[in-house]
Amino acid sequence: MIYIGNHVSVSKGYLAMGRHETSLGGNTFAFFPRNPRGGKSKAVKDEDIAALVEYLSDNDFGKLVVHGAYTMNICAAKEDVRANSREMLRDDLLRLQKLPNNFYNFHPGCHVGQGTETATDQIAETLADVILEVESESKMPLQNRILLETMAGKGSEVGGSFEEIKEIIERTVKIGGEALRGKLGVCLDTCHVWDGGYDIKNGLNDVLKKFDSVIGLDNLCAVHLNDSKNECGSHKDRHEKLGLGCIGAEALKAVVCHPLLQNRPFILETPNDNAGYKAEIETVISWMNA
Ligand code: FE
Ligand code: FE
Ligand code: ZN
Repeated sequence: MIYIGNHVSVSKGYLAMGRHETSLGGNTFAFFPRNPRGGKSKAVKDEDIAALVEYLSDNDFGKLVVHGAYTMNICAAKEDVRANSREMLRDDLLRLQKLPNNFYNFHPGCHVGQGTETATDQIAETLADVILEVESESKMPLQNRILLETMAGKGSEVGGSFEEIKEIIERTVKIGGEALRGKLGVCLDTCHVWDGGYDIKNGLNDVLKKFDSVIGLDNLCAVHLNDSKNECGSHKDRHEKLGLGCIGAEALKAVVCHPLLQNRPFILETPNDNAGYKAEIETVISWMNA
């Protein structure tokens, strides 16, 4: 079995997100702890977070996949953008210490002309540093595994190949120590890997084999389940509704039902309203039960 859900808005608070997801038929979800385009996060009441924690456990939810802001770029060429991004990451992780046993997913970043090498070092240094800071400030170990998202390789994006993701993890561990290995993982986005040139439609087993040999499937913690508006290798990153894009329903069904991908949270990031998400969740559940 898998856990299925979609992106929900935090605007009505934390507990409200859990109830909303239930109304759509899902049992996991993703949300941006702040405006997805950046900016300040809303003041959150501890009681509201605690109420969600209880709700998730009472209703057998799978792990949530909280998403870092799109504007967060910890390998930005501009120092102020980098510093601001680091602060967003620290602030998100610190807040999420109160929402334990979930995942925090983010885009590795765009190197904006600095090159992948420099960017990889910057990402690794920031990750290693921020994890330590969060643990010392909250006086407890990191409560949520941090997931690097596989990217489409659009523009100067870092993380467009499994090797690049692997390198970020290795350098972070090298800086911060072996203990960091279990605190990091990967979120595989079906649209992104497809756009990045991994043919999950005609060679899903080969792609998973490749992932396993480079990063290890133990580290594949969550899936973003999206169709793509473009062809494999297009490096465009335009999500499409399930079955309406170039990946297609059959291939996405094979992902959902793949024995090596069970028991993970699957998050829809398709262009949908509530009714559309509800229908897609139903479709995915019907695939699982077929
Ligand atoms: Fe993402
Ligand atoms: Fe994604
Ligand atoms: Zn995307």
